[in-house]
This record gives sequence, structure tokens and C-alpha cells, in this order.
Amino acid sequence: MSDDIGELNVPSRLLLGPGPSNVHPRVYRAMMAPVIGYLDPQFLQLLDDTQRPLRALFRTENDMTIAISGTGTAGMEAAIYNVVEPGDTVIVCFNGFFGDRMAQMARRCDAEPVLVEAEWGRIIEPEQVEQALKANPGAKLVAIVHGETSTGILQPLEEISRIVHAHDALLLVDAVTSLAGCDLRIDDWGVDVCLSGTQKCLSAPPGMAPLTLSPQAMEVVAKRKEPVRSWYLDVSMLRNYWGAGKARVYHHTPPMTMLYALREALRIVLEEGLETRIVRHRRHAEALWAGVEAMGLQLHAQEGHRLPSLTTVRVPEGIDEMTLRRGLLQEHNIEVGGGIGVLQGQVWRIGLMGYNATAQNVLGLLYALETELARQGFKVETGAGVAAAVQSLNAAL
Ligand SMILES: *Cc1c(COP(=O)(O)O)cnc(C)c1O
Repeated sequence: MSDDIGELNVPSRLLLGPGPSNVHPRVYRAMMAPVIGYLDPQFLQLLDDTQRPLRALFRTENDMTIAISGTGTAGMEAAIYNVVEPGDTVIVCFNGFFGDRMAQMARRCDAEPVLVEAEWGRIIEPEQVEQALKANPGAKLVAIVHGETSTGILQPLEEISRIVHAHDALLLVDAVTSLAGCDLRIDDWGVDVCLSGTQKCLSAPPGMAPLTLSPQAMEVVAKRKEPVRSWYLDVSMLRNYWGAGKARVYHHTPPMTMLYALREALRIVLEEGLETRIVRHRRHAEALWAGVEAMGLQLHAQEGHRLPSLTTVRVPEGIDEMTLRRGLLQEHNIEVGGGIGVLQGQVWRIGLMGYNATAQNVLGLLYALETELARQGFKVETGAGVAAAVQSLNAAL
């Protein structure tokens, strides 16, 4: 066998699944900048340049606003591991795949997760959180997912935050699929710890995890009885690294290229305007929802709480969902996701994240979906989905 593995040759797909989404061309361009050392004055400037827009996106004044070197899950570990200690009671809202992941992490910190559960595709009701807090006095933390990528739910947070703070607990939020795509207000809503990722609504590659902690959360970190069990993700050390400019010390070699990517991605968001971008996500999601329903398909997520950046569509009776996804990929070059966890085989997951939330993509996907459904004998009126989506887009103008 030859040792020559050949030139790298990957296809350029339209990524309309649960993430990664397509990378903005300007982000790719930024990533070609030369790698510099972590002591270079330009690098310090790069960290500053990144922190300021990150605070704007999170809508926070939190001093501790950084990006973890790692994907969204590393951000989740940083969030949980820093505030949770052995013996803590942690309330974890579990109405999808990522709630379960947070509960697993809490267990690894030797904490006792108490699950507040809802059906996959429905929100967690504030009363449920209140009951759990009453039943578990002294609970330290409530962890919840804002945009559940596995179910297509956008969880309201304001009322829950009020309840959490009335019980002197901290609120931890997974905003991997909502940051820069949905309304998210860390300070106004009183979120104490929030994590995200670069490959969803930020339209950068996977590899960094924006993270912010309130002064109250940092106080909890400062009062820990034992050191954070992850050395790499310990925010008290990362703070010195991202911190006040002068005293920066070596902690780990930053993935410089990903920092360039994040910097440019943040710049693109602020150029568009956060508010405008959120409206754009909503407008195109509504067009998709109208189109899908006009084709005779059903949306899975609870009405009124649908996540604009990710839509779950129920697989109709008699349709092979995997064959349909294969058709979308092979015939139309479009990737969408299948269901995971308890929704495996029951839904498709269609992402319209960041750069991808456009009319071209919505209309192209609806056309491809119609074609592939028809191939399996599903009766669709020709062009009904596209027409409904166009109507929805025009109505929004
Ligand atoms: C994608 C995602 C994650 C995990 O992020 P990775 O980058 O895959 O590690 C966590 N939470 C939610 C809600 C997500 O959508």
C-alpha cells in the first residue's frame, strides 16, 4: 500500500443540521493569518479585541467573559466544574439531550443532581423549578438549556431566574445554539453562568466556547473548599490569562487560529447588529415553519416556544427518515440532522444558524425536501412549501 494519502478533498456542503453550520467566508479568510506566540503584544490585543464584543453579544458587563479553548461541551464542563463541589445539590432541567449531559457532569463533580423533567419538545415550567427548589433547600445551582438543539425548544428564562434567585441559588444556562441567534440577556435576566460555542449561530468552526460568569458566580468559585477538579478549565487561572493586561501568565498555548476566527465572527455579528441578526433568524425560521406545514408535515416543538435556529420536523408515517436524509445529502448537497435520544427516528433537525439563515437556504431546502418526500411516495402539492415560505417572507417585509 502506498504511503501517499493524497490531497485532502472534502466536499463543500450546505450544513442545515444541528451544527456545525457553514463558516462565514470572512472567518475562513481571518484564519489564514499567521500564528503568533502567546507573549506577542499583538496576542494580548487579540484577547482584548475578543472580550469586548463577547460581552456585547452576551449583553453583560461581567468582567469574567472569555472563550474556553474547546468546543461547547468544554464550555459546559468549565461552567459546571467551576461552581459545583462534592456534596452540592444541583437542580438540572432535563427536557432534552443536553440537560442529561449537564447532569452527568454534575455527578462527576460528586454532586447530587435533582432532575426537573419535561417531555422532549416542551419547555420546563417555572412552577416545576420552584417546586424542586422548595423540596431541596440549600440547592446551589439550577442548570438549564436555553436553546435545546435536540428538541427545537427555546426555553424562557426570566421567570425561572427570578425564582432561582429568590432561593439564593445560581442560574447556569447552556446558550450554545442561541447566542447570536436568539434574544439572550445575561445581565437583565440574571443569568450567573452562561456557555456557548462557535459553530452554531456564530458561523465559525467548532473549537471555542464563549463563557461568562457573574460576580456572584465568581464569588462562589472563590469560596470553594477544594480546587476545581479540571486544571485546564479552572476559571481562577484562566482569569489571569485573559485578565487585566499586565499580569498575563502562561496557562496553555491558545489555539490562535480559532481566536482569529472568533474575533472575525464577533465583528460580523456586531456589523449586522445583534438585534437585526436575531430578527433575521426569526424571519427565516418562520418561513421554514410555514413551508414545512404547507407541505403537510408537522413541527415537533411546542407552539410559542420554537427555537428559530433549530427546527424539529416530525417524520411522517411511512417515510424512511434516513433514506430521506441520504437523498438530501447525495442529490442536493444538503445536510440536515436526525433525531437523537428519545427522538431518534422521529424527527429531522433543521438548523438555520448565523450565516445560513437566508431565504435561498430556506427555499432550497423546501424544494429538496419536497423532491425527496415525493420520491418516497409522500403526497405533496408541487411547490406548496416554497410558496408558503415566500408568502411568509414577504409578509415580514
Ligand atoms: C452543540 C451543543 C452542545 C455541545 O457543543 P459541542 O460543540 O458539540 O461540544 C451543547 N449544548 C447545546 C444546546 C448544543 O446545541
